[in-house]
Amino acid sequence: MNLAIKTPLQSEVEPVADPLDHLFDSLFHPMGADGVYARTGLYEDVIERLAALITRHRESDTEVVRFPPVMSRAMLEKSGYLKSFPNLLGCVCGLHGSEQDINAAVSRFEKGGDWTSSLSPADLVLSPAACYPVYPIAASRGALPDGGLRFDVSADCFRREPSKILDRFQSFRMREYVCIGNHDDVATFRERWMVRAQALATDLGLTFKVDYASDPFFGRVGQMKAISQVQQSLKFELLVPLRGEDKPTACMSFNYHRDHFGLTWDIKDSDGNPAHTGCVAFGMDRLAVAMFQTHGTEVAKWPQTVRSLLAF
Ligand code: 5GP
Ligand code: ZN
Repeated sequence: MNLAIKTPLQSEVEPVADPLDHLFDSLFHPMGADGVYARTGLYEDVIERLAALITRHRESDTEVVRFPPVMSRAMLEKSGYLKSFPNLLGCVCGLHGSEQDINAAVSRFEKGGDWTSSLSPADLVLSPAACYPVYPIAASRGALPDGGLRFDVSADCFRREPSKILDRFQSFRMREYVCIGNHDDVATFRERWMVRAQALATDLGLTFKVDYASDPFFGRVGQMKAISQVQQSLKFELLVPLRGEDKPTACMSFNYHRDHFGLTWDIKDSDGNPAHTGCVAFGMDRLAVAMFQTHGTEVAKWPQTVRSLLAF
């Protein structure tokens, strides 16, 4: 009989350190949940300067719309989100019963029991991306003008993927430029932004590459969708190698949805055909983390060109 005593691996004793961990104390405060953090003034100042830089690059005739962190559940369902990312969705729940039902749930909690079994879904979900609510707004305007419409949108977004690493949050800020028009309007919009975004990343002193990408579609059918998305060049990402070249971090994405939202919301281009849509998304938290990881946590020591770009 082998009585050898198993020595625990180091990784079983303590979590393996991530190369971004050293940033935590300067940039965040814990809030009791992985991927949900309070932000320091130092961090938030850089977020605001990055947002202002992105604003300075806004194209003319772009309408600004700011969204709250929640949106209509019915609208997100209609957008097809559950077909692609049901595992990532956060849904608002509440105690919707009678006073008696609600009191019963609270007293169960006070006796150490479970109150959450009395929850039922509300008509709201946490927005998983900033652009979903803009398509029904565009639809309400009637047929698109020649050249289409452009929007500047942002929202606090939520995706249910708890993680301890600092480039994967459950709650993060997303800024997007959105184009709604015909195929050519959207294709040229996306090309312009892919060029402009790379110039921005260069000016910010970030190392990056732009590559074909796919969304994290759920399940086995999802893998097929991801392959088809790459084959059709529907998504590109600007990737920053925050931990070396392996698995770089997507800080921006350049998306072409073809006529998906046009058909869903009955948006017609100026020729009466279903509108095409596309968006360029800036992951504000990832961009800020990338800046601190690249240039350090002492902004006074950042390269002068980067400091003046960010109006320090
Ligand atoms: P997408 O819709 O392309 O998945 O996301 C748009 C952008 O949001 C990404 O390029 C990325 O910068 C940001 N983003 C997506 N998921 C996360 C996340 O889990 N954490 C953070 N901090 N940003 C994210
Ligand atoms: Zn979008």
